[in-house]
Amino acid sequence: MSTLTLHDVRKRYGSFEAIKGVDLEVADREFVVFVGPSGCGKSTLLRMIAGLEGISGGEIQIDGERVNDVGPSDRGLAMVFQSYALYPHMTVAENMGFALKLAGLGRTEREAKVRAAGEVLQLGALLERRPRELSGGQRQRVAIGRAIVRDPKIFLFDEPLSNLDAALRVQMRLELMRLHERLAATMIYVTHDQTEAMTMADKIVVLSAGRIEQVGTPLELYHHPKNLFVAGFIGSPKMNTLEARVVSCDAAGVRLALAGGVELTVPVDGAGVAPGEAVTLGLRPEHLSLIEVGPLAGTTLVAERLGNVTVLYVDLAIGGTVVVQMPGGDPTAAHAPVRLAVDAAAGHVFKADGTTLPR
Ligand code: ATP
Repeated sequence: MSTLTLHDVRKRYGSFEAIKGVDLEVADREFVVFVGPSGCGKSTLLRMIAGLEGISGGEIQIDGERVNDVGPSDRGLAMVFQSYALYPHMTVAENMGFALKLAGLGRTEREAKVRAAGEVLQLGALLERRPRELSGGQRQRVAIGRAIVRDPKIFLFDEPLSNLDAALRVQMRLELMRLHERLAATMIYVTHDQTEAMTMADKIVVLSAGRIEQVGTPLELYHHPKNLFVAGFIGSPKMNTLEARVVSCDAAGVRLALAGGVELTVPVDGAGVAPGEAVTLGLRPEHLSLIEVGPLAGTTLVAERLGNVTVLYVDLAIGGTVVVQMPGGDPTAAHAPVRLAVDAAAGHVFKADGTTLPR
């Protein structure tokens, strides 16, 4: 069993509070991803869990034991860094076995563990090379191998794929997911890349300015974002937002008027708003499409044809730009007049304070 509990964890740098009271439960064998914009505190939180950064308030527990005052090497965790942090003068095998040597493990046992990890990570043929003789992906595997040999209670990853090219990132993503399955380990993974978070996580923790905005499975966050911040951060291309005014509302739905008078009904609980109130309508790009006749008019700015999908950027006549994503190829050119259909049933409505009306 390897569980982690954070209770009101805080970090202050002088007068600046970088982490403002975080509560979180990570279950045994869970793959949890911390995601959020640059500077939101992801790395600080991870480093506090690792013990590399002191904590200014709250409590961290591993397997139910308070570890606030336990040093990093005694927490039973292993961290993999973005920079790999390999020793250049050591071979792959020496790099992977170094922590075991420090821990006093005998040569035979060390070699067996390194060989086993080398096999899992397909590094068997490279064990005698030095880091400079490896590709970026291979170096990253060595860094992961160094964590595996220690058989940690929890793996911590700090943006481990950021230095790899796009194709290699996708491959390493798959490898990490397979590794998680094979090792049945608890893993915490930091990234600013929402695609990595969506594809790898059992549970995503969205952070903003030192606070948790929402915790949930990838699809919970996608379909039920708690607020505008999460709605805008999860999903690519981003959710479209349009200013609107409530015409009427009840528990079954909210009738909205957009600028220019276009009206539509979104089936969310309207108990929390009143007629006349200013709100924001959120529409995912796949919930807009082109139609021949319709009230919402615009002009295409750019058409991106990716083969499997077409993404159109459309300047609306009522003001604002929206992104429309349609399956397959679409011949619409840039600078063409278009009309848009809106799947209002899939819409989200946000109050002025950014919170979502429940569905
Ligand atoms: P990124 O994605 O850019 O790595 P992050 O979400 O990991 O960002 P952190 O590195 O955790 O963000 O930093 C959180 C905040 O704390 C930032 O505003 C940062 O400037 C501040 N911070 C981090 N380390 C220190 C430090 N040693 N002293 C003062 N402020 C710090």
